Amino acid sequence: MKRHAEIAGGGIGGLSSAMMLAKQGWTVRVHERSPEIRELGAGIYIKNNAIEVLEECGVFERLAPQGVRLERAQHVDRDGNLMQDRALVGASRVYVFARQVLIDALRDGARDAGVEIVTSSTAVGADPRGELHLENGQRLKADLVIAADGVRSRVRDSLGFDAGYRDLPTIINRYLIPSRELTPDDVTREHWSGRWRMGITPSGKNQTYIYQVHPQRDEQAGRLPTDVALWSAAFPHLRRAFEIMAETEVSQYNYGVVHCTHWQKGRVAIIGDAAHGLPPTLGQGAGLTLMNARALNAALARSASVEEALPLWEQTVRFISDKTQRWSLRYDFFTRQWPTALWFLRPPIIWAFRTVPALNRRMRIADQGMRLTPLGLPISHG
Ligand SMILES: Cc1cc2nc3c(=O)[nH]c(=O)nc-3n(C[C@H](O)[C@H](O)[C@H](O)COP(=O)(O)OP(=O)(O)OC[C@H]3O[C@@H](n4cnc5c(N)ncnc54)[C@H](O)[C@@H]3O)c2cc1C
Repeated sequence: MKRHAEIAGGGIGGLSSAMMLAKQGWTVRVHERSPEIRELGAGIYIKNNAIEVLEECGVFERLAPQGVRLERAQHVDRDGNLMQDRALVGASRVYVFARQVLIDALRDGARDAGVEIVTSSTAVGADPRGELHLENGQRLKADLVIAADGVRSRVRDSLGFDAGYRDLPTIINRYLIPSRELTPDDVTREHWSGRWRMGITPSGKNQTYIYQVHPQRDEQAGRLPTDVALWSAAFPHLRRAFEIMAETEVSQYNYGVVHCTHWQKGRVAIIGDAAHGLPPTLGQGAGLTLMNARALNAALARSASVEEALPLWEQTVRFISDKTQRWSLRYDFFTRQWPTALWFLRPPIIWAFRTVPALNRRMRIADQGMRLTPLGLPISHG
């Protein structure tokens, strides 16, 4: 008999898990609280680990032409001088997409695999014996329940773990600009000036993604529309970018982090930001989410029961997310809190992360992808 999964959340985690399970022969239903499947925010970096999972799912071929494959990643100081320059080849392969393009591809992939997607359906909790609870009072039985309902997951919080979400005092503004005026080459550049950062990257044939980051305490820096004179004084060579940004729709967020002692209980698995939400400093939140969905699928295919598969899954893959979360927090600290008297040390440290392979490998552990875990081996359909 077919096994059945109920999933809370129609984001990257919910849709990718659903698609993979359906391809393994499960019946799957996804509950999304919004009236439609949509992504807030602007662009998204999709790195090699995530690309490999999307390729395996058969989604990447359709997706790739809608994004940009980057050739290089650069760090630049306030005067435009290079602090770090990396060629993005092999395991460092990176694409950038508009977020909606990625979520549309996952939604279509899930539907093609036979997943039922129910919108305007809000989950409020779960029973570890295999039940998803909805706001409308329904209790849906399942062999597997997945909590993929984001950083403030109600399903996770209903399980009684020591878990929760915390805002960090860093603000990020994101913009999607309908032109390549600022990004004629396929290079992503992160510009640093004091404690402020600006990331500018192509994200489509005719599209540029910009993120602007600063400590929350710098209130004037966070005013919208962006203060062109203030930001141009910090980044003199980016004045044109600020002029364009001041005219463009923007979304503003706090960085945040999720602490979650367990990723599973009985027949319930917690996936994506609900389990390991992290600051986006390394561009790996979606990458980890896709890897963990892929690993969960492998653990289920290999185990005699769901209850046996879930602990195996957590024990085998969790270290990659934990390490990446720690490095992403360090990166945030390094840019937000680093003492002014030690600023002269930042360029050599940034350079060291490029040139010392052991350091780079540790910080970017997730880039190595599914080969880090035995659950990355091909899934047998036994
Ligand atoms: C500013 C920023 C920049 C980022 N940049 C990158 C990047 O460049 N590269 C990268 O890999 N990652 C990036 N990330 C991280 C990435 O966006 C997340 O890791 C990823 O979206 C996690 O997907 P998810 O499905 O777990 O959660 P979400 O994307 O939050 O999806 C959760 C879904 O569940 C729905 N939902 C919530 N509550 C309920 C409920 N009770 N019932 C039903 N549905 C519910 C929501 O509406 C949503 O659709 C970034 C994150 C941020 C905040």
